[in-house]
Amino acid sequence: MNIHEYQGKAILKSFGVRVQEGIVADTVDQAVEAAQKLKDEYNSDWVVVKAQIHAGGRGKGGGVKLAKNLDEVKEKAGAIIGMQLVTPQTGPEGKKVNKVLIAQDVYYPGESETKEFYVSVLLDRAKGRNIIMYSTEGGMDIEEVAEHTPDKIFKEEIDPKVGLQGFQARKIAFNLGLSGDAFKDMTKFITALYKAYIATDSSMFEINPVLKTSDNKILAVDAKVNLDDNALYRHPDYAALRDTSEEDPTEVEASKSNLNYVKLDGNVGCMVNGAGLAMATMDIIKIAGGEPANFLDVGGTANAQTVKAGFNIILQDPNVRAILINIFGGIVRCDRVAQGVIDAYQEIGNIPVPIIVRLQGTNAAEAKELIDNSGLKVFSAILLKEAAERVKEVLAN
Ligand code: GDP
Ligand code: MN
Repeated sequence: MNIHEYQGKAILKSFGVRVQEGIVADTVDQAVEAAQKLKDEYNSDWVVVKAQIHAGGRGKGGGVKLAKNLDEVKEKAGAIIGMQLVTPQTGPEGKKVNKVLIAQDVYYPGESETKEFYVSVLLDRAKGRNIIMYSTEGGMDIEEVAEHTPDKIFKEEIDPKVGLQGFQARKIAFNLGLSGDAFKDMTKFITALYKAYIATDSSMFEINPVLKTSDNKILAVDAKVNLDDNALYRHPDYAALRDTSEEDPTEVEASKSNLNYVKLDGNVGCMVNGAGLAMATMDIIKIAGGEPANFLDVGGTANAQTVKAGFNIILQDPNVRAILINIFGGIVRCDRVAQGVIDAYQEIGNIPVPIIVRLQGTNAAEAKELIDNSGLKVFSAILLKEAAERVKEVLAN
């Protein structure tokens, strides 16, 4: 699950990671009030107004602006709140900004230069290790750094059993070219960051940039925090941070019905039990000349209710020209699923696209008979090859 920068920073801060301080605002008035509070606290007029959307590259799209007084806060917050922000990560349609973070300006001049770094913590599944990835090239697009100057990206592997060792934190600070107080503060920063990553059951932290201020403090200017959905049951307070307005509405609806749904761009909707079979079904659709409109795993129990929820979600996509249901009856019996399909079909009423149902496994023959005798516009198949041919026929019409 993705969360907003301001939420991620609050979590980091609760683990002792120093962050650029800020206050979130929904309206221009709240933004001005927030800037006033920060001014009182930090004795500085300058703040940054930062669009809160679930996508990076906001700076490039005009979603991060420096304001040097309250009038500018008003003007910039006014322009950003409600805007459709397009960044390299949002797609061309952009994302609507509902909130801004008013943050203290941390790029103030002082005894030494400010310096931006890149730090992320993530899981390397192949190695079974956590990785701290870091670079002196902070504030830039890390994919570009990886492409053009891969030697500037360092990786530190951490054995999850023993955790981050002191020498590793020091090595990171050293490789980032730091010394003195900044060196010490970076080791603290990295240690706290790794602790937070483990304790929150996160799948990724990406802090870009990590800043060395002109008075040699290390802090997180940005925070991309990705929490592992499978561990959210252990963190109800984090689960509550979910902002469904940032997610695809059909995906949100699907997750309410416990369906694993990912919207795609194709024209053949599919409903399958099991993720592996769903992937294979998407391949079959492609081989038949179609493009999958979605990934949908209805899980182990495909009854009338889940099938109906699945239909409703798939049919919201105007690109869908056919639906392929591919269910393997192992624990669930095929005739049960077939009855579920028939019931769901009758409940929804007029389904405007042809449906191809392929049921294989326990009671497959009975299931085919049920569907064939239902009088509905549903094609049944037992072999996957037949199902693929049906898809091809339907698309050709
Ligand atoms: P992103 O573009 O979505 O990654 O948003 P970031 O939070 O990383 O901000 C983008 C850029 O805004 C940073 O790389 C900084 O260069 C700049 N920025 C962020 N905070 C401040 C600040 O306090 N003062 C100044 N002058 N610039 C800032
Ligand atoms: Mn950033």
